[in-house]
Amino acid sequence: MVNKLMLYNQSSQALCYIPFRMSAQPQELQTCIFRTPDGVVCNRTILGPDPYCSLHYGSNCKPIDKVPENPHFEADFLDVVQANDGNWRGFVFPLGVKLPKEIPFAVDARGSRLSSFEQEGVVFKEPVNFSDAIFTDGLTLKGVVFEGPVTFDRCRFEGPVDILNVQCKSSASFTGPISQGERF
Ligand SMILES: [Zn+2]
Repeated sequence: MVNKLMLYNQSSQALCYIPFRMSAQPQELQTCIFRTPDGVVCNRTILGPDPYCSLHYGSNCKPIDKVPENPHFEADFLDVVQANDGNWRGFVFPLGVKLPKEIPFAVDARGSRLSSFEQEGVVFKEPVNFSDAIFTDGLTLKGVVFEGPVTFDRCRFEGPVDILNVQCKSSASFTGPISQGERF
Protein backbone atom coordinates (compact mmCIF):
# COMPACT_ATOMS: atom_id res chain seq x y z
CA MET A 1 0.00 0.00 0.00
CA VAL A 2 1.60 3.28 -1.13
CA ASN A 3 0.57 6.51 0.55
CA LYS A 4 1.67 10.08 -0.05
CA LEU A 5 3.73 12.07 2.40
CA MET A 6 3.16 15.79 1.93
CA LEU A 7 5.94 18.24 2.73
CA TYR A 8 5.23 21.88 3.59
CA ASN A 9 7.45 24.90 3.91
CA GLN A 10 7.12 27.43 6.74
CA SER A 11 4.32 29.23 4.91
CA SER A 12 2.34 26.03 4.81
CA GLN A 13 2.76 25.82 1.08
CA ALA A 14 2.86 22.32 -0.14
CA LEU A 15 6.25 21.59 -1.63
CA CYS A 16 5.86 18.10 -2.93
CA TYR A 17 4.36 14.75 -2.44
CA ILE A 18 6.57 11.83 -1.61
CA PRO A 19 5.07 8.43 -2.06
CA PHE A 20 6.04 6.10 0.72
CA ARG A 21 5.24 2.55 1.60
CA MET A 22 3.47 1.79 4.83
CA SER A 23 5.38 -0.74 6.85
CA ALA A 24 4.76 -3.00 9.81
CA GLN A 25 1.25 -3.82 8.74
CA PRO A 26 0.99 -7.56 9.31
CA GLN A 27 -0.95 -8.17 6.12
CA GLU A 28 1.70 -6.35 4.13
CA LEU A 29 4.85 -8.03 5.40
CA GLN A 30 6.92 -9.12 2.48
CA THR A 31 7.58 -12.82 2.33
CA CYS A 32 10.46 -14.94 1.15
CA ILE A 33 10.40 -15.73 -2.55
CA PHE A 34 12.21 -19.07 -2.18
CA ARG A 35 10.39 -21.75 -4.08
CA THR A 36 11.28 -25.43 -4.37
CA PRO A 37 11.58 -26.94 -7.86
CA ASP A 38 8.16 -28.49 -7.35
CA GLY A 39 6.62 -25.13 -6.52
CA VAL A 40 6.39 -25.02 -2.72
CA VAL A 41 6.91 -21.43 -1.56
CA CYS A 42 8.52 -20.47 1.74
CA ASN A 43 6.42 -17.50 2.83
CA ARG A 44 8.49 -16.62 5.90
CA THR A 45 9.07 -12.93 6.52
CA ILE A 46 12.06 -11.53 4.64
CA LEU A 47 15.20 -10.28 6.38
CA GLY A 48 15.80 -6.97 4.68
CA PRO A 49 16.44 -5.69 1.19
CA ASP A 50 16.97 -9.19 -0.19
CA PRO A 51 13.67 -10.99 -0.73
CA TYR A 52 14.67 -14.01 1.36
CA CYS A 53 14.04 -15.11 4.93
CA SER A 54 16.89 -15.82 7.35
CA LEU A 55 16.87 -19.50 6.41
CA HIS A 56 17.05 -18.99 2.65
CA TYR A 57 19.27 -15.92 2.69
CA GLY A 58 21.95 -16.49 0.06
CA SER A 59 20.00 -19.05 -1.94
CA ASN A 60 20.30 -16.86 -5.02
CA CYS A 61 24.10 -17.16 -4.98
CA LYS A 62 25.87 -19.09 -7.71
CA PRO A 63 26.94 -22.62 -6.77
CA ILE A 64 30.60 -21.61 -6.57
CA ASP A 65 29.95 -18.57 -4.37
CA LYS A 66 30.68 -18.73 -0.67
CA VAL A 67 27.71 -18.83 1.66
CA PRO A 68 27.18 -15.30 2.98
CA GLU A 69 27.43 -14.47 6.65
CA ASN A 70 24.04 -14.65 8.28
CA PRO A 71 23.86 -14.01 12.03
CA HIS A 72 20.09 -14.52 12.02
CA PHE A 73 20.22 -18.09 10.80
CA GLU A 74 21.16 -19.86 14.01
CA ALA A 75 18.30 -18.67 16.21
CA ASP A 76 15.68 -19.14 13.51
CA PHE A 77 17.02 -22.57 12.60
CA LEU A 78 16.90 -23.56 16.27
CA ASP A 79 13.21 -22.64 16.30
CA VAL A 80 12.65 -24.92 13.33
CA VAL A 81 14.51 -27.80 15.00
CA GLN A 82 12.70 -27.35 18.31
CA ALA A 83 9.41 -27.48 16.43
CA ASN A 84 10.49 -30.90 15.05
CA ASP A 85 10.22 -29.39 11.59
CA GLY A 86 12.45 -31.27 9.17
CA ASN A 87 11.57 -29.22 6.11
CA TRP A 88 15.01 -27.72 5.51
CA ARG A 89 14.63 -27.57 1.75
CA GLY A 90 16.86 -24.93 0.23
CA PHE A 91 18.16 -23.73 3.58
CA VAL A 92 21.48 -21.88 3.34
CA PHE A 93 23.61 -23.00 6.26
CA PRO A 94 26.31 -20.49 7.15
CA LEU A 95 29.57 -21.49 8.75
CA GLY A 96 29.50 -23.18 12.13
CA VAL A 97 25.96 -24.51 12.41
CA LYS A 98 25.88 -27.35 14.94
CA LEU A 99 22.98 -29.75 15.07
CA PRO A 100 21.62 -31.15 18.34
CA LYS A 101 22.93 -34.59 19.28
CA GLU A 102 19.66 -36.23 18.30
CA ILE A 103 17.38 -35.38 15.40
CA PRO A 104 14.17 -37.33 16.09
CA PHE A 105 12.32 -36.33 12.93
CA ALA A 106 12.77 -36.88 9.19
CA VAL A 107 14.97 -34.30 7.52
CA ASP A 108 14.33 -33.08 4.01
CA ALA A 109 17.27 -30.84 3.16
CA ARG A 110 17.06 -31.23 -0.60
CA GLY A 111 18.64 -28.39 -2.50
CA SER A 112 20.28 -26.89 0.56
CA ARG A 113 23.61 -25.04 0.56
CA LEU A 114 26.02 -25.68 3.36
CA SER A 115 29.21 -23.92 4.29
CA SER A 116 31.91 -26.14 5.80
CA PHE A 117 29.35 -28.44 7.36
CA GLU A 118 30.88 -30.23 10.36
CA GLN A 119 28.87 -32.50 12.63
CA GLU A 120 30.03 -34.89 15.29
CA GLY A 121 28.07 -37.49 17.23
CA VAL A 122 24.68 -36.60 15.79
CA VAL A 123 22.05 -39.34 15.63
CA PHE A 124 19.41 -38.99 12.93
CA LYS A 125 16.52 -41.19 13.99
CA GLU A 126 14.49 -40.89 10.79
CA PRO A 127 15.18 -40.62 7.03
CA VAL A 128 17.54 -37.89 5.90
CA ASN A 129 17.70 -36.46 2.40
CA PHE A 130 20.41 -34.04 1.30
CA SER A 131 19.94 -34.65 -2.43
CA ASP A 132 20.99 -31.83 -4.75
CA ALA A 133 22.72 -30.08 -1.85
CA ILE A 134 25.85 -28.01 -2.39
CA PHE A 135 28.58 -28.28 0.22
CA THR A 136 30.53 -25.14 -0.59
CA ASP A 137 33.47 -25.67 1.78
CA GLY A 138 33.58 -29.35 2.54
CA LEU A 139 31.74 -31.85 4.66
CA THR A 140 32.90 -33.45 7.90
CA LEU A 141 30.85 -36.15 9.60
CA LYS A 142 32.33 -37.93 12.60
CA GLY A 143 30.50 -40.54 14.64
CA VAL A 144 27.22 -39.63 12.96
CA VAL A 145 24.49 -42.27 12.93
CA PHE A 146 21.74 -42.44 10.34
CA GLU A 147 19.12 -44.84 11.66
CA GLY A 148 16.84 -44.38 8.66
CA PRO A 149 17.66 -44.20 4.95
CA VAL A 150 20.10 -41.47 4.03
CA THR A 151 20.28 -39.92 0.60
CA PHE A 152 22.98 -37.69 -0.84
CA ASP A 153 22.06 -37.99 -4.52
CA ARG A 154 23.47 -35.47 -7.03
CA CYS A 155 25.27 -33.51 -4.33
CA ARG A 156 28.08 -31.14 -5.16
CA PHE A 157 31.09 -31.12 -2.89
CA GLU A 158 33.55 -28.27 -2.95
CA GLY A 159 36.42 -28.76 -0.55
CA PRO A 160 37.37 -31.83 1.46
CA VAL A 161 34.98 -34.56 2.47
CA ASP A 162 35.90 -36.23 5.75
CA ILE A 163 33.63 -39.05 6.87
CA LEU A 164 34.72 -41.03 9.90
CA ASN A 165 32.84 -43.67 11.88
CA VAL A 166 29.56 -42.90 10.20
CA GLN A 167 26.89 -45.57 10.49
CA CYS A 168 24.07 -45.94 8.01
CA LYS A 169 21.83 -48.49 9.70
CA SER A 170 19.22 -48.64 6.98
CA SER A 171 20.32 -47.69 3.47
CA ALA A 172 22.52 -45.04 1.93
CA SER A 173 22.35 -43.55 -1.53
CA PHE A 174 25.08 -41.43 -3.08
CA THR A 175 24.08 -41.66 -6.72
CA GLY A 176 24.71 -39.07 -9.36
CA PRO A 177 27.73 -36.91 -10.00
CA ILE A 178 29.74 -36.22 -6.90
CA SER A 179 32.38 -33.68 -7.72
CA GLN A 180 35.20 -32.42 -5.62
CA GLY A 181 36.90 -29.25 -6.69
CA GLU A 182 34.95 -29.10 -9.91
CA ARG A 183 34.04 -25.64 -11.11
CA PHE A 184 31.27 -24.49 -13.36
ZN1 LIG B 1 12.51 -18.52 3.04
